[in-house]
Amino acid sequence: MSGISERLQVVRERIDRAAREAGRRPEQVRLLAVSKTKPIEDIREAYRAGQRDFGENYLQELVRKAEALRELSELRWHMIGHVQTNKAKLAASAASVVHTVDSARIARALGRRRAQQLEANASSGMAARRLEVLIEVNVGGEAQKAGCSTDDLEIVARAIEGEPALELRGLMTVPPHSERASEALPYFERLRALRDAHGGSARLPELSMGMSHDLEVAIRAGATIVRVGTAIFGARSPRPASP
Ligand SMILES: *Cc1c(COP(=O)(O)O)cnc(C)c1O
Repeated sequence: MSGISERLQVVRERIDRAAREAGRRPEQVRLLAVSKTKPIEDIREAYRAGQRDFGENYLQELVRKAEALRELSELRWHMIGHVQTNKAKLAASAASVVHTVDSARIARALGRRRAQQLEANASSGMAARRLEVLIEVNVGGEAQKAGCSTDDLEIVARAIEGEPALELRGLMTVPPHSERASEALPYFERLRALRDAHGGSARLPELSMGMSHDLEVAIRAGATIVRVGTAIFGARSPRPASP
């Protein structure tokens, strides 16, 4: 599909404007391009236009694309969909950042798997980094939604900090669906308040919040990472839920 570099430019301008209007510097907001369901060629085009951070919801799809695009050495993969404990090994090896840690159990599983990989890499002389993770918080308290409750946030944070192979980077949320972007503001503000109540930006530097339709609102509330799919790659065709 053509036009991706133009749409990327438009999104970057939206981010810059929103940051300035909020009295923030545009460099304080990172754009994560959400490429789920989109072909490899679209990702290449975005990469050629300077985009480096890409997000996927399904681990198998992330792994397949990471393998196909191995030669794009600066590309960083972010896992933004739910990770099951039995997929922790795959997530820990394929992603640079996991945004969706929502239990102590998944934190321990990711930590253990990443530690094994660091050890294997060290003995083969390869460089390796800790896995960066964010805690997904269900700020709307929605019944079927992923993310830990606000009450469990501290437990999850401590579990991450207890894993030497993980690096706690911040908080992530997907607010309840609403037609009007401004309706998401209270949820974004709640995530920022949680960040402030749990050690502030020294402990939780990143706030991953805001998507194509509400990124300006999220930036106003303090987002440091916005996750944008449709506005860059165009509409996605509906697909059945992954097993
Ligand atoms: C799909 C998705 C996005 C991107 O949504 P758009 O509305 O296409 O920008 C962001 N975050 C998560 C968790 C997603 O699943």
